[in-house]
Amino acid sequence: MEQLHARNVVIGAGAMGSATAYHLARRGEPVLLLEQFAIGHDRGSSHGAARITRHSYADPQYARLMLDAFRAWRELEADAGQNLYLRTGGLSFCPPQVDYVAQVAASLQAIDIPHRRMSGRELRHAFPVFEVPETYDVLFEPDAGLIAAARAISLQLELARQLGGDRTRVLAECPVRAIDLDGNKPIVRTDSHRISADRLIVTAGAWACRLLPQFPVPLRPTRQQVLYFRPNDPAPFTPGRFPVFIHKGAEALDDFYGMPEFQGRGVKVARHGGPDVDPDAMDRVVDEPYREVIRHFLKRSIPSLVTAPIEHTEVCLYTSTPDEHFRLGTLPDCPNLITASPCSGHGFKFSCLIGRVLADLATQGATKVDITPWQL
Ligand SMILES: Cc1cc2nc3c(=O)[nH]c(=O)nc-3n(C[C@H](O)[C@H](O)[C@H](O)COP(=O)(O)OP(=O)(O)OC[C@H]3O[C@@H](n4cnc5c(N)ncnc54)[C@H](O)[C@@H]3O)c2cc1C
Repeated sequence: MEQLHARNVVIGAGAMGSATAYHLARRGEPVLLLEQFAIGHDRGSSHGAARITRHSYADPQYARLMLDAFRAWRELEADAGQNLYLRTGGLSFCPPQVDYVAQVAASLQAIDIPHRRMSGRELRHAFPVFEVPETYDVLFEPDAGLIAAARAISLQLELARQLGGDRTRVLAECPVRAIDLDGNKPIVRTDSHRISADRLIVTAGAWACRLLPQFPVPLRPTRQQVLYFRPNDPAPFTPGRFPVFIHKGAEALDDFYGMPEFQGRGVKVARHGGPDVDPDAMDRVVDEPYREVIRHFLKRSIPSLVTAPIEHTEVCLYTSTPDEHFRLGTLPDCPNLITASPCSGHGFKFSCLIGRVLADLATQGATKVDITPWQL
């Protein structure tokens, strides 16, 4: 058993952990990052080519936080000399009895983000592949787009290594078995290490509830399924012609999203939401009833995709809180333990910023980013 002492230990190398490692290394801090699987694995929440990014939130607090998040991504892109954000524009749409689009419009107005409100009928003119009912309420945000997800994670880890040299240590295939918070400093136990940490940052995604049973709200890992379609005519589905989209329905489980072809993956379409799951025993095969649910949505919204072959599928995990809001910061009564795992299925677009926030909290005990609404 190797005994180690580390100034900053980060558990989990997904979107949040890799961003935290990058931001710690960027300010000259040593980092020990522990990941239970291989780096870039597909068993958590962050795998896949791309994630949607947008200011378009019904809740103005998230829309406002996205101003900081967009800045954080730009800063990362400048450090790396590479683009991660692709501006495709983004649609939000809902039936007339749902006030989602009206709320999104109010959020964007409050922070001065350009957008255009239209009806379902106008949408058909602007983007003919969308055939939603004429009475639908629709909003287009030109600055919405994609973040190259897998690339963002590998780039942040690469930068953490470059900036930190041998002060950045990444141990893959190294599951943390227990965290002991009884002493002055958190103790992290793996199969081969006993590590005492000045600060411990837990970004363990769906496994956070196991590592932190004292977490103040229940965390619910849920199983998400994703389909990638190969359209018969790919031209209308390329970035630049096909925006990212979010559909908010009137019923539970009637929320869908999608994005254009990216990195040769096909057009991504998925439903937001899924059943509770044990993250270690998740069925990794997308089921037939789910394919039918998606085809049914396509029939009423993007009919030219209904007959397109499904070329690729993914399953993925959300870690949700009861109100679907983030929870982040220092654990009550544990000033050395910081966490940001529960992002309820919409955290990727914030992850670079959250990494900065966690690095601020670890090194200064406070952050200039206003995280009051999500603080533990
Ligand atoms: C299908 C899908 C689509 C999504 N779409 C969007 C979107 O369009 N826009 C958006 O903003 N967000 C989106 N999200 C949400 C976003 O991807 C997640 O909020 C984000 O990836 C969560 O990252 P994380 O680092 O918290 O979790 P993870 O990526 O799961 O990382 C946690 C890591 O911790 C490791 N770990 C856990 N336990 C241990 C342990 N004991 N020891 C060592 N390592 C451990 C895990 O192996 C894992 O690598 C989507 C999520 C899914 C599943």
